[in-house]
Amino acid sequence: MPLRLSIVTQDRTVLEQDDVTRLVVPTTEGQITILPSHAPLMASLSIGEMVVYTPAGPDPIAVHGGFIQVVDDEVSVLADAAERASDIDETRADEARTRAERHLTERAADTGEAIDLLRAQAALQRSLLRLRVVRRRRGTGVPASR
Ligand code: ATP
Repeated sequence: MPLRLSIVTQDRTVLEQDDVTRLVVPTTEGQITILPSHAPLMASLSIGEMVVYTPAGPDPIAVHGGFIQVVDDEVSVLADAAERASDIDETRADEARTRAERHLTERAADTGEAIDLLRAQAALQRSLLRLRVVRRRRGTGVPASR
């Protein structure tokens, strides 16, 4: 029996899939693989790439923290933010990266608030993850979902 997966954020459903054969998940304890008949699990997600495998092929997803619960082949992901590779706007992510890098460079030259530094570092991390996910999909030729 395949896994049933739902990935939601506070404002939308990112993915509902009922033919998942394998799931690779970035957790704060490290990367884990979930196969059907997995033991019950609750874990927190780190910021990284999740890959959903179905008979149609791998579906890479950028996840930005949250939680995962596994019970009886039912997988629920509640993410702070999540985007399928096919939904990522590469230009937007590239612009976010440039902006974050500029903020970090300017910050290095002045005495700005530490909070700005943390915010710029977090924005840089999000943009780099989105770029990695969208470019990997293109590189491996995984078909878009639409
Ligand atoms: P930006 O500066 O481009 O807004 P951000 O990292 O500040 O990026 P978030 O606050 O993480 O953006 O996300 C806001 C919303 O926009 C979320 O729903 C997220 O999924 C979506 N989002 C952010 N960047 C992209 C992108 N490059 N492609 C598609 N959706 C994105």
